[in-house]
Amino acid sequence: MLQVLAMTDNAPSVPYYKATGKELEVFEKVMSNKLPLLLKGPTGTGKSRFVEYVAHQAGLKLLTVSCHEETSSTDLIGRYIIKGSETVWIDGPLTTAVKKGYILYLDEVAEARPDVVVAIHSLTDHRRELYIDKLGETIKAHNDFMLIASFNPGYQKGFKELKPSTRQRFVALSFNYPDPKVETEILMNETGVDEDTAKKLVNIGNKIRNLKELGLTETASTRLLVDAAKLICSGLPKAGC
Ligand code: ADP
Repeated sequence: MLQVLAMTDNAPSVPYYKATGKELEVFEKVMSNKLPLLLKGPTGTGKSRFVEYVAHQAGLKLLTVSCHEETSSTDLIGRYIIKGSETVWIDGPLTTAVKKGYILYLDEVAEARPDVVVAIHSLTDHRRELYIDKLGETIKAHNDFMLIASFNPGYQKGFKELKPSTRQRFVALSFNYPDPKVETEILMNETGVDEDTAKKLVNIGNKIRNLKELGLTETASTRLLVDAAKLICSGLPKAGC
C-alpha cells in the first residue's frame, strides 16, 4: 500500500525555488515536448522543491508518490475494493494523473517494485498510454500529463539502482549541492537566518561533504543545513558555528 501520497492543489503562494543551473530552461523544453523527466541526485538537494515550483509555474496539479520497497503497480494504477455489497474500481494516482492531466512525481522510483517500471513503460515513449490490465483497458494520456521521477544513483549506500534501459527512457537532470553562494542564499530565504550564520553553516556542510575518506553513509544535505538554520533561528545555541 502507498505510505505517502501528497496532492498539491496549486497553492496561491509560489514555492521558493532557487535555480542552481539551467534546470528551469530544460524543464520548459521537456514539458513542451511531452517527455518524461528523471531527477538524479542525492537526497536533500532540492528535487522535490523543484517539482513543486515547476508544477506551480505550469499551473498543473501535482501528485507525489514516495516510493518504497512495497510500492507496486496496483498502488499506482488502481484496484477493486468492496463497498457494501458491490465491488468498485478505484483509480490509483497514476491513472488519475493520466486521465486528468496532472504531474505525477514518483519520488525514489528505484525503491519501488519492478512492476512499477513495467507499468509506466508505455507512458515513457511516443505512445503516452496506460494499460490497465485489471480492466482490460488502454487509456491515452491527457495532453497535460507529465511523469517526473527521482532517484539517487548510488551516491549513498542503501539506495537501489535504476536499470540503464529504464533510465534511457527519461530526459535526465542532475541535482547536486549548490555552490556556497547559492546555498547561503537558500538558507537565508528559507529560514531568515543572518548571512554570517548561513555562510558558516554552508562552510561546515562543505567540510563534511569533503570527508569522503570516512565513507559516511549520509552527508550534510541542503535540507539538513536548512533545518540547522531553523533551529538556530528559534534560539538554539550555535555550538561550534
Ligand atoms: P530532495 O527532494 O532532493 O530530497 P528537497 O526538495 O526536499 O530535496 O529539498 C530539501 C530542502 O532543501 C527544501 O525543503 C528546501 O528547504 C531546501 N532546498 C534545497 N535546494 C533548494 C533550492 N534550489 N531552492 C530552494 N530550496 C532548496
